[in-house]
Amino acid sequence: MALGEELRKIVRGEVTDSGELLEKYARDASLFYVKPEVVVAPKDAADIQALVRFVAEKRRTDPHAHVSLTARAAGTDMSGGPLTDSIVLDTTAHLKNFIGLAGMTATVEPGMYFRDFDKETKKQGLELPSYTASRELCTVGGMAANNSGGEKNLKYGKTARYVQELEMVLSDGEVHTLKKLEGEELERKLAEQSYEGDLYRQTAALVSDPAYQKIIQEHKPTVEKNSSGYALWDIGDGKTSLNLARLMVGAQGTLGIITKIKFGLVHPKPYSAMTVMFLNSLSELGEVVPEVLKYSPDSFESYDDHTFHLAVKYFPEFAAQMKTGIIGLGLSFLPELFMALTGGVPKLVLMAEFRAHSQQEALGKAEQLSRELKAKRVNVRVAKNEAATRKYWTVRHESFNLLRKKVRGQRTAPFIDDFVVNPLKLSEFLPKLESLLQQYDMTYTIAGHVGDGNFHIIPLVDPTDPTTAKIIDELSHKVYDLVLEYHGSISGEHNDGLIRTPYVEKMFGKEMYGLFLQINKIFDPLDIFNPGKKITSYFSDVLQYLDLPKGGQVAPKE
Ligand SMILES: Cc1cc2nc3c(=O)[nH]c(=O)nc-3n(C[C@H](O)[C@H](O)[C@H](O)COP(=O)(O)OP(=O)(O)OC[C@H]3O[C@@H](n4cnc5c(N)ncnc54)[C@H](O)[C@@H]3O)c2cc1C
Repeated sequence: MALGEELRKIVRGEVTDSGELLEKYARDASLFYVKPEVVVAPKDAADIQALVRFVAEKRRTDPHAHVSLTARAAGTDMSGGPLTDSIVLDTTAHLKNFIGLAGMTATVEPGMYFRDFDKETKKQGLELPSYTASRELCTVGGMAANNSGGEKNLKYGKTARYVQELEMVLSDGEVHTLKKLEGEELERKLAEQSYEGDLYRQTAALVSDPAYQKIIQEHKPTVEKNSSGYALWDIGDGKTSLNLARLMVGAQGTLGIITKIKFGLVHPKPYSAMTVMFLNSLSELGEVVPEVLKYSPDSFESYDDHTFHLAVKYFPEFAAQMKTGIIGLGLSFLPELFMALTGGVPKLVLMAEFRAHSQQEALGKAEQLSRELKAKRVNVRVAKNEAATRKYWTVRHESFNLLRKKVRGQRTAPFIDDFVVNPLKLSEFLPKLESLLQQYDMTYTIAGHVGDGNFHIIPLVDPTDPTTAKIIDELSHKVYDLVLEYHGSISGEHNDGLIRTPYVEKMFGKEMYGLFLQINKIFDPLDIFNPGKKITSYFSDVLQYLDLPKGGQVAPKE
């Protein structure tokens, strides 16, 4: 019997196994194409339980059975995380309800779009501050599974900081509630004779083993932001505390399926002002970055000259995004255009935003930093309020989306799109990176969270060029080698997915990677959940999925 037919018998949600719709699920925002065999839109957690039990049974009877479950929400992942040639489980159709607010927390189903969630929490003046530049496109479930972050990361941290509790269907096919357990509560759980007690015991045994703890401490990321690997360094010592919810955040659906999330929230500060810096060379970063960080801005972001050119080229689209007319936007950018005409387009624009409970306070901080930088002969402007900051944010937020949608004959290739290095090393690191990129004939934009040292480099590649796949592999190795030389991370927020899983062992080393394999075995011994992500894949494996159909490199899988 066909897989789709079998699934129709066990779930109440819609099952699709043919037609155009499968094409939609064959892509996310990465450079891959993987067509699923079946897409299921589960009605509820019970449907997900049925799916997990079905796949578990298939794999128990035949460990080589080619069947697995990959969760998908909005599909804006840039790493290929939600792609599979087996069963996709789409949470956006039914598992999208806002369950409620209680004090400073909100409980929600994973398929709810962040934009809708935000409207609900804002009714009480609250916010989940780890929202992404894709906040209008992505869901809260994708944010939790990727441990996503965004422009407020510097002050507020990533999504992991706000996930207080997860309800998940694990490999036993049951629904479990995971959260941080401490003291007696943890002791009781460790003594419990149940599947869940067993998971706690095995994980606690792993993280509390002195030899393993040494490996974890020696190999954990030393930069502020990381979504790569499993966060073993952040889940407690297994004796006094253990937080399995934290382990699941950023696991990209490889350890189970999230069915409910309880988020902690914050009160956003309503007023804003921004110090904008125009650098003519990357070497200026050495002096500017530490100076700005001393002022603890809420956000410290950047975009490069290529992004600036893109903004000029797609001016009408940027104006539409800002909901202002072209003339209005043109006038607002006049000072920058004058600057570009007289002194050339700046190599890098840096944006330090200060938020506060009064306009005066926010502006005071932006102006103080501006005075400091002017004394150091840095070219600076101050955007005095939220409205004045908007044009810079639009360029920063929209460049990747415009590249994806607008550029003809070439496509965006996110493969070195999310590395992190210590921000104080950027003036040394970025010129080395540039010289690597210049070895290839490629257009690319650099934008990112300069305050965390997290950069998004998006090259444009020609899908018809047969050397493209080779360039991607070669350049990834060169860039990741450089990042690791600087003790950085291969992914700050976009996660491993198909594109970076082959480099996870390189980043963490053999021993730590061995612990990741053990963790995966504890939670998913039958390989039910999203195989090939986080562990056990090589670049040669993922090559077959590169979405470069015309280049003769690889045809899409049918
Ligand atoms: C224009 C643009 C800008 C972006 N900017 C940012 C940014 O600023 N910061 C950032 O971090 N990311 C950014 N991204 C990447 C992406 O938007 C985020 O990673 C986002 O959080 C993914 O959410 P999603 O709903 O699209 O999830 P999907 O892409 O559908 O899934 C993401 C991962 O989560 C897993 N998953 C989904 N649902 C579940 C579930 N219920 N249980 C278990 N696993 C699940 C999937 O298997 C997949 O591995 C950007 C993407 C685009 C296109």
